[in-house]
Amino acid sequence: MALVRRNILMDNQLCVWCDIEEETVEHIFTGCVISAGVWNGVSRWCRIPDIFAFHVKDLVNMHEVCGTSGIKKAVLHGVIIIACWILWRARNDKIFSNKESKVVDLVADIKTLGFLWYKHRCKEGVVD
Ligand SMILES: [Zn+2]
Repeated sequence: MALVRRNILMDNQLCVWCDIEEETVEHIFTGCVISAGVWNGVSRWCRIPDIFAFHVKDLVNMHEVCGTSGIKKAVLHGVIIIACWILWRARNDKIFSNKESKVVDLVADIKTLGFLWYKHRCKEGVVD
């Protein structure tokens, strides 16, 4: 996250997705229409109540407060971290390659990576 902050806060440019709000860490991960769509998809996929996050720390603590426990809690935490990474990658794709990202594609990527991550964790015997 330290790296993320350093990259973003150097100049105050507008968000690459909505072109309305100033691009901040909070906006990219929680405030933008793109991130809102992604969290909506994630909460439906994980069958948890809608994710309403206003700060990055809300996301990092989400698995603690949404009523899950045990394995599901660990998995949810992993999925949220993956989703943050996917959002960040999509933001960079737009800036450096001018590649548009659709919410549905981002959610699909999160599902694929989340599943691979889960399988890997099972193999390690961390969750099963
Ligand atoms: Zn935006």
